[in-house]
Amino acid sequence: MKHQARKRFGQNFLHDQRVIDRIITCISPQPSDLLIEIGPGHAALTKPLIKSGAELHLLEIDRDLVSKLQHQFADTPNVSIHPGDALKVNFPEISGGRPFRLIGNLPYNISTPLIFHVLQWHEQVIDMHFMLQKEVVDRMAAGPGSRTYGRLSVMTQFRCRVTPLFDVLPESFTPAPRVCSSIVRLEPLNEPPADPGPFKNLERVVTAAFSQRRKTLRNSLRDVLETDRISAAGIDPGQRAEQLSLSQFAALARSLSYDIN
Ligand code: SAM
Repeated sequence: MKHQARKRFGQNFLHDQRVIDRIITCISPQPSDLLIEIGPGHAALTKPLIKSGAELHLLEIDRDLVSKLQHQFADTPNVSIHPGDALKVNFPEISGGRPFRLIGNLPYNISTPLIFHVLQWHEQVIDMHFMLQKEVVDRMAAGPGSRTYGRLSVMTQFRCRVTPLFDVLPESFTPAPRVCSSIVRLEPLNEPPADPGPFKNLERVVTAAFSQRRKTLRNSLRDVLETDRISAAGIDPGQRAEQLSLSQFAALARSLSYDIN
């Protein structure tokens, strides 16, 4: 029976072979790799990944697709299928504690929570290749002074090297989504680009600073840091969040740690 694409699971299936080939070339899967694919769907990316000879784990939430995949890959020794919600998965349990590479043409509504969920095991994540909404990739990769530079840019760049790879048009999917997509490579960093102290303080400063991005830091950080502490961190309180570099955000987060301790 033909599968009806389910909106609630963000199902837009890739059918454009040139795009599929290009994604696989960017991933360059090796026989020694342990790959985890999130949302294999009708296996557009899965089939070429299997050909690489890598050990492949598939995480799929849609039970109908899980049955189809189980049937399709019953005799494929390097494939394991894990039914369930990727947002709730303990990734090291799947990888057996070994380093893994992550791949997914992700539903738009789960993409950012999923990336931060996975990053709790960043030491085991070799890299991640995701198809996301183009606008999300642009925000992840943006630098200071850009209109799209914001909380997602700063929080992602503190954890990962972000490399946008190429854009994918809506016509490459069935059904076609309303927006353009992009492929991005994320490589977790061993060390953040600047020391922010505890990450929860960075999160707090960055969230407050960008929650009113048109305001100066003096105003947007009013409930978080006093003006003289902003100056003491070497930052002009008359600046706005969108002008600050990662190391300036780290300096603000460190001052917050001094306040708390
Ligand atoms: N990889 C396929 C492709 O490129 O054609 C399908 C991509 S489709 C955009 C997203 C896939 O993720 C669907 O198969 C959907 O059922 C699955 N999915 C959605 N939410 C999920 C979740 N929370 N955990 C695991 N899989 C999920």
